[in-house]
Amino acid sequence: MIKVKSNVQAITIKLLIVFSIFFSCTSDDNDSLGGVSIEDFEFIEQEPTVIAADEDTGNYTTCNDDGANATRTSNDLTNPVNVGTIDDRTCYANYKESTIDGITWGIYNITAGSNNQDATNTLQPRMERSLPIANPNVGSYVKFTGDFRILEVGDTGSFDTSGSYIAQAKGQHTGGGGSADPAICLYRAHPVYGTGINADKQVAFDIYAERILVRGGSGSGREVVLLKRVNKNEITSFVMEVGFKEDPNDSSKKIHYCNAIIGNETFNWNIPEPDRGTQSKIRYGAYRVRGGRAQIRWANTEHEKVDK
Ligand code: CA
Repeated sequence: MIKVKSNVQAITIKLLIVFSIFFSCTSDDNDSLGGVSIEDFEFIEQEPTVIAADEDTGNYTTCNDDGANATRTSNDLTNPVNVGTIDDRTCYANYKESTIDGITWGIYNITAGSNNQDATNTLQPRMERSLPIANPNVGSYVKFTGDFRILEVGDTGSFDTSGSYIAQAKGQHTGGGGSADPAICLYRAHPVYGTGINADKQVAFDIYAERILVRGGSGSGREVVLLKRVNKNEITSFVMEVGFKEDPNDSSKKIHYCNAIIGNETFNWNIPEPDRGTQSKIRYGAYRVRGGRAQIRWANTEHEKVDK
């Protein structure tokens, strides 16, 4: 909303300034229009971007003492509000929570180079939660629902290495190829910067689906498709279902699907080579930050697993 609002405001301001100049030439009133001065509109244009109540702002240190977990699961809260098993691979922060307007949010903050669990310069930092795995029988699925807010994502200045994942579908396959624990479809948020005094501020995020083209695909073995834009700190509903179903065109075949609903917009996708798939599973949180810092919030999380 911030990006749209600022664009609308900028257009409105320009129009009003044009009208103001026109009226200033045709009336004695030199700098006002309906009692509102040009300076008032200039003030609106300088409105700073949103800062969330639970946002880390300003400069930061890659690692912090209160982010130094011994193992990937050692520093979860006792009864976390978010579902799933923590996978903390960042020394920037440990899992925390905030309560805003009666909603308790899980806080997933990571910084570039902060992976304190894997060998240096191998895997990307992450703080995610993993969820139970469904089998590949027709009718089996996993379904995750929640609300997210995105406050900040990784940025290197280059599209291919920028952005941070907020959730992903994973699943192993037969026949080899790729990682031992392959990602299938990842939801990757890229920064949208503001204008004027907000030119260096992330004010909105474009969410892309990064989807495998072949089982085990990475790099050029994936496509990256723009889904939609959300504003910074905007509470956005998220539903993701990954599972197997019968192919309606051929009952001897099955479809492996990964369907998402983001802010009430549906994005359905069928995974390539469904017969090779042996699992459906979901992770969410914050993952990948090749430059800067990423801050994702999750609330009202639920997970369902059906094995047929
Ligand atoms: Ca940590």
